Amino acid sequence: MPHPPTPRHRARPALLAALLLALLVPAAAGCGRPGSPPVKGPTAADLPSYPVARDFSLPDSPTWTAAKRRGRLVIGVKEDQPYLGERDPATGTYRGFDIEIATMLAAALGFPEHAVTFRTVASANRETALQNGQIDLYVGTYTINAKRKQQIGFAGPYYLAGQSLLVRSDEHDIRGPQDLAGKRVCSVAGSTAYQRIRAQYPKAVLVAYDSYSVCVDNLLTYQVDAVTTDDAILLGYAAKVPDQLKVVGEPFSKEPYGIGMRRGDDALRFALDDALAAAERNGTWRKAYEATLGVSGMPPPTPPPIDRYPAT
Ligand code: GLU
Repeated sequence: MPHPPTPRHRARPALLAALLLALLVPAAAGCGRPGSPPVKGPTAADLPSYPVARDFSLPDSPTWTAAKRRGRLVIGVKEDQPYLGERDPATGTYRGFDIEIATMLAAALGFPEHAVTFRTVASANRETALQNGQIDLYVGTYTINAKRKQQIGFAGPYYLAGQSLLVRSDEHDIRGPQDLAGKRVCSVAGSTAYQRIRAQYPKAVLVAYDSYSVCVDNLLTYQVDAVTTDDAILLGYAAKVPDQLKVVGEPFSKEPYGIGMRRGDDALRFALDDALAAAERNGTWRKAYEATLGVSGMPPPTPPPIDRYPAT
């Protein structure tokens, strides 16, 4: 039976998000060029609800068993990424495509929304938070790659993004990563975006913070010349202030987003892969996309094939 929608709220200080919002919201009034999402995100009423699997049981999964015993599934997310993972500082509610994927999968594991706790975890702390059990799952623009797979497990992918560049509208010299020599480029510590610039574009002057909203703040105040990370993230910031920011060039990497979990919990990984495959087949994935990232008018992409790799 479908679970009725309830607000997704978790109390946690979000100073940076609040600062960003204060900076962005007044400037955003009245904007809206073709292809940019409306400034106001989806409301709770637009969000799909997900059937909670009542008799679900996964005794072979240590993570699931511990969460069931505690009565809560704790999911690490982002709180300052528009349309992906965004926390409303006034209500504490989390919204966005990643939050929908997390809520959908929690329901498939038998956890209704009121038994899910979202916890903001920065890019650099994701592996550690999963390894030491601070969170059960992580759903937040988390690229699946071989290096991370040595430390944690990944279900999915559920979306394919690509690294891009965000600049001010008055910037005309930066059109791609080849133009970054001598430019101040901001990214987030522990991200694939940061690592790629450091390794492949060493002439860029790289600046790292804990979250992309701080980078965007620095871009708007002329402290840096560009922000780099996944296109899905950057387009959300640009949509909030389309008169001041733009995404330039073509994506220059492939970032398949996975659901992070403890390495070796293959029972959980396969269960999540199955749940995701079912959601992609029956239209639930599409509804989640349309209610969040899809408000830009971008038609739902075909989700990338699920990488159901052998037990670890
Ligand atoms: N998808 C990239 C990564 O996982 C960049 C976005 C992020 O930092 O979450 O590193």
